[in-house]
Amino acid sequence: MGRKERAREIISRLSAVISDPVTELVHESPYELLVSVILSAQCTDERVNRVTPALFRLFPDVHALAEGSVPEIRQLIASITFPNNKARHLSGMASKVVTEFGGEVPADLQLLETLPGVGRKTAQVVGGAAFGIDSMPVDTHVFRVAHRLQLVRPSSDTPDAVERDLRRVIKAGELSTAHHLFILHGRYRCTARSPDCEPCVLRNLCPQWQAVRLLPEPMTGLSRNKGRFWCGTRKHYVDHTVPRVDRAGAQQESCPRCGSMNLFDCKTGRTLRRVPDVRIGDMGFGRPDDRKHAS
Ligand code: SF4
Repeated sequence: MGRKERAREIISRLSAVISDPVTELVHESPYELLVSVILSAQCTDERVNRVTPALFRLFPDVHALAEGSVPEIRQLIASITFPNNKARHLSGMASKVVTEFGGEVPADLQLLETLPGVGRKTAQVVGGAAFGIDSMPVDTHVFRVAHRLQLVRPSSDTPDAVERDLRRVIKAGELSTAHHLFILHGRYRCTARSPDCEPCVLRNLCPQWQAVRLLPEPMTGLSRNKGRFWCGTRKHYVDHTVPRVDRAGAQQESCPRCGSMNLFDCKTGRTLRRVPDVRIGDMGFGRPDDRKHAS
């Protein structure tokens, strides 16, 4: 099955189990959505939803927010990550919307990106959810799910590269839906640390799951007194390992005597082999100041 075909099948299966693929940020207008998305950088939607009711009571529209002071805004969003920066961005965004766009949040991605605190990702989230613009903002969940399912090239290591790859395999008109499906799947099923693979509807399409299944079963009967690790290839005990990069480019541990990567921990009996996984490192996801990788 090619990537496009797999992408179609993945979207179809996720659609069958995720009935309402929309943003979880509670909002009633493009203004409220824009504020919530700016606040959600490196913060959970749940926490954002806890602070926005009070914020929107005091600042019900963009005009009110433009008139509010940064310390006032900061106080209301104190429990959110980066409150100082975000308060400045909200204030700057509101002033610009009022002075340059007549108080209306612009329904255009490029114009949205000119607002303080709004990068490519934020603009796309708002454009997609508030104005129906077909978009594929790549956040940490979309990034991880796209890589685990190998819908993107392994070398695509930035949100922009992942977005480009996804646009090649997902049909125009389906991008926004796919974006929400991937986020919800990543948030609740295919989580970063412990993906819940057993009930996942994508199992037989998922290279990550196949790779985990191919790992050797834990060994029994190993003696911790004879060594810390057991080399399953040459059948001897060793007390330390040597780092080695495997053919897939993943960092593994190897036997210092024979170089084999077929090592087991004598305490747990588990293999030391790792299935390469894609995690977001320090890539700027959600940093409020980061204009390159979005909000
Ligand atoms: S099988 Fe596991 S790793 Fe693969 S998509 Fe499902 S939850 Fe994620």
